[in-house]
Amino acid sequence: MTQAPTNSLTPNLPAAGEIDIPAIKKKYQQERDRRIRKEGQEQYVRPVDDFADTYEADPYTPVTPRDPVSEDIDVVVLGGGWSGISAGVHLRRGGFSSFRHIDHAGDFGGVWYWNRYPGLQCDNDAYCYLPLLEETGFMPSKKFTDGYEIREYAQSIAKRYELYENALFHTMVDSLRWDESIKRWRIATRQGDDIRARFVIMANGLLNIPKLPGIPGIHDFKGHMFHTARWDNDYAGGGEKNPVLDKLADKRVALVGTGATAIQLTPYLGKYAKQFYLLQRTPSCVDSRKNSKTDPEWVKTLEPGWQARRRANFHRGANERFQKDEKDLIGDIWTEVNHNISAELEAQGWPELTLEEFAARYEEMDFRVMERLRNRVDEIVKDKETAELLKPYYRYQCKRPTSNDEYYQTFNRPNVTLIDVSETQGVERMTENGFIANGVEYEVDCMMFASGYEVTSDLDRRWGISVFEGRNGLSMYDNWNGGYKTLHGMMTHGFPNLFTTGYYQGGLNSTLTYNFEEQVKHMVYIMKEVLDRGAVAAEVSLEAQDGWIRHMRENEVDRTQWIHDCTPSYFNNEGKPDVDENGNEKYRFYLGELYGRGWDAFLDVLENWRGKGDLEGLVLETADGKPVQPV
Ligand code: NDP
Repeated sequence: MTQAPTNSLTPNLPAAGEIDIPAIKKKYQQERDRRIRKEGQEQYVRPVDDFADTYEADPYTPVTPRDPVSEDIDVVVLGGGWSGISAGVHLRRGGFSSFRHIDHAGDFGGVWYWNRYPGLQCDNDAYCYLPLLEETGFMPSKKFTDGYEIREYAQSIAKRYELYENALFHTMVDSLRWDESIKRWRIATRQGDDIRARFVIMANGLLNIPKLPGIPGIHDFKGHMFHTARWDNDYAGGGEKNPVLDKLADKRVALVGTGATAIQLTPYLGKYAKQFYLLQRTPSCVDSRKNSKTDPEWVKTLEPGWQARRRANFHRGANERFQKDEKDLIGDIWTEVNHNISAELEAQGWPELTLEEFAARYEEMDFRVMERLRNRVDEIVKDKETAELLKPYYRYQCKRPTSNDEYYQTFNRPNVTLIDVSETQGVERMTENGFIANGVEYEVDCMMFASGYEVTSDLDRRWGISVFEGRNGLSMYDNWNGGYKTLHGMMTHGFPNLFTTGYYQGGLNSTLTYNFEEQVKHMVYIMKEVLDRGAVAAEVSLEAQDGWIRHMRENEVDRTQWIHDCTPSYFNNEGKPDVDENGNEKYRFYLGELYGRGWDAFLDVLENWRGKGDLEGLVLETADGKPVQPV
């Protein structure tokens, strides 16, 4: 963090006239079409039976046997990642003491607990991503900071707010049922617990259930095999803080996948494995990293409120647009399109643009940035055929943009082979000794899977909770089958006292952790108000829920075409649309249904709602079922 923010054009950015945009558009479409698999999510196998370890086993912390818990408690927070930790912070601030976290991991940290593969870093500006920096006084050591640093910071917050004392780790929730007779949620776990919670906060994240590709013959392989979210350090050698994978020196290793995880891991496998095969179906776009150590002199210049301002700047750069005279404080792949648009607008005296004119500029800049990224491959990768295969042909942000300074360089190593499996829509087959790709069998000692998570899969698969029933035995899975039904994305009719964090029907901020912080703040406000009014249960009325859904629809920004045109991935439910109640195709987007008026407007909605103080749209009742009138 030494360079001053600027809005100059990215070096090597091609001019629009240098690109045949209609031809590229056609190529994007062709590349998408040939990748769509008719099975959609069903191409992935559930990690059950002999794959159960992929999901349930914890390679990092031994499981300590404990007695089952049976208790009444105010709040259960399902999940100990960033959203769960934020919930704990806000519960403490709100004066709650009777609450506990439940997580199947062995400690706090969420994705940062499970992911420990070499090269793991946050791909987002850590000064935005890490919560509570101003309060804790912590400063990440670099812009894109290491996974273990994030995990240790998350755990330090859990300690600071005394979240450990009640936490139940290595605990899998089996069922969640609303018990009307006691007006509490009954949480049954595989460890035999029966916990009766007044309120439940679902803080169970997006990327918590690893998925494996259903490659024919996957069960036949006799070598070693694991998902990157269960990194096998004993097999690979080295350690998290010392990623020298010395045990791979005599191993032939294959990695399936080329998403954000594989981009970070590949340089290490290329460097240490005797032979490394990277199995690619769709290339990612990979910019230079431009990582830098935190400059203490820069830290001294920061004034109170700096993190909120930085997050706001990042959000405009990544998801909206920069304002006149606003400098890009972030300056990475996430803000590049808007950054370049600003640079050109500044040079032109900042002409006023209509929404349509801005959208046209955005689309053109999207093509230019993607072309620059394709050119970058040619600059680094020596073998022309390999370089061609590594070029991404889809619109910016159809897949998560990444950055890495060693990824493309890895393909210049003699022990590294890129194997394109796009023709067969994935790895063709696995055998006892390895895998078959494009008709050739490759023998390997180890197959690693960077094959992602159940993000847009059906909810029971995403949440891994067998039974989830609200009032009158209504299943949450049935209830949301035709689409989300919520108030503000956080409460659902038929499911009193239940709160959902994440992306359902609400605003989006580019900083994931900030979304969570605002959501849990709102939830804790509601819980406190409910109890302060002498009630024990609060349920969204059907009318209020319908009103929010209507308001969402009226303000919807239609992204259907963009999502449709994107190459398949978890972003767009593998390109397979659902059909809505009117028979229209609708894509399950990984960020749910977004509030079309934007993040600031969404925050205003929440603040105004709380400001009115009457819990509008919630029906409150006492323990004996009497209604509690709004004050
Ligand atoms: P992804 O879902 O992004 O990638 C899965 C990969 O597996 C894709 O390349 C996919 O190909 C490939 N794949 C799936 N099935 C097959 C098959 N049958 N044959 C060959 N290849 C196959 O998972 P990641 O773990 O990479 O990333 C998930 C998310 O985790 C990221 O998008 C990001 O949000 C987060 N993450 C964040 C990081 C951070 O820094 N904050 C770091 C790492 C991950 P295809 O693309 O063709 O489907």
